Amino acid sequence: MNKINGKTKLIGFFGSTYKSSKMYKLYNTAFEALDLNYCYVPCAVDDLEKAFSGVLHLGFRAIGVSFPYKESIIPYLDELEPEAAAIGAVNVVTHQNGKLIGGMTDGLGAVCALEEVVKIDGSTVVVLGAGGAAKAIAYELSKHHCSLKILNRTIEKARDFAQKIDAQSNGYDILPQVVQQADILINATSVGMYPDAGACLVDESLMSSKITVMDIIGKPHETELLKRAKRAGSKVIYADRMLLHQAIVKFKYYTGVDAPIAVMEKVMQDMRE
Ligand code: NAP
Repeated sequence: MNKINGKTKLIGFFGSTYKSSKMYKLYNTAFEALDLNYCYVPCAVDDLEKAFSGVLHLGFRAIGVSFPYKESIIPYLDELEPEAAAIGAVNVVTHQNGKLIGGMTDGLGAVCALEEVVKIDGSTVVVLGAGGAAKAIAYELSKHHCSLKILNRTIEKARDFAQKIDAQSNGYDILPQVVQQADILINATSVGMYPDAGACLVDESLMSSKITVMDIIGKPHETELLKRAKRAGSKVIYADRMLLHQAIVKFKYYTGVDAPIAVMEKVMQDMRE
């Protein structure tokens, strides 16, 4: 356990999963590995405004933010980084010189996970979904030279965001054609998430060894989409790679130093077993 004393820098976590999330293990083990005097604490937030007053007055250095606060915290912040401003959601808040600054690491985490196994530049990428996570991923992908298609059940949501980042948008009626032509397919919807783990938007016959398939749903670890993709011979990327990479990015926000990646990878693996 990290040594706690009067100089310990506090990192909080605000999210409905504060009791069940194991991310405190990931960060606290990483702080200890680098002998950093930091402590990551899941917080029971009952009043967001008062909780933010606590962030300022108790000297928290940063806050990790998750559902349901990703959008509702924005009015309490002084500044937003470009990713957070474009998406309208925040998953990390840093406290710098009395100012609260919101950032968003989901997109970069997903892109880093993709880059481990596939080349993004020059590829055709299909993103399923137009919620917060899908937008964050599409925004980060739009910085690459790829052909980007966003498909969503509510077409207007996909269209509104796609216009901002120069992507194409559609409903699921054209899913079969676009998936067959894609190099990369990302499920960023909640379809297939526990307890509805049998649900899947994509037929197995549409996938092949030519496509890389990523699902950002973490529970179950292997979603129905990834099961189908594996049977079809596709490369697959699990949600915990995105989670790991965005935690690596957040670690730098929290401490200003590079994360001990091997240590964090080992903790993630232990958490899954
Ligand atoms: P969100 O903002 O609520 O968006 C949900 C998305 O799923 C929307 O595009 C929604 O479509 C779609 N959807 C929901 N039910 C559907 C259905 N029955 N049929 C078709 N589409 C449906 O949620 P989010 O924050 O983006 O999160 C989405 C998923 O990503 C969750 O499972 C979350 O746990 C996961 N996630 C993972 C990470 C990670 O690091 N691995 C990070 C963030 C989120 P409509 O717009 O039509 O409603």
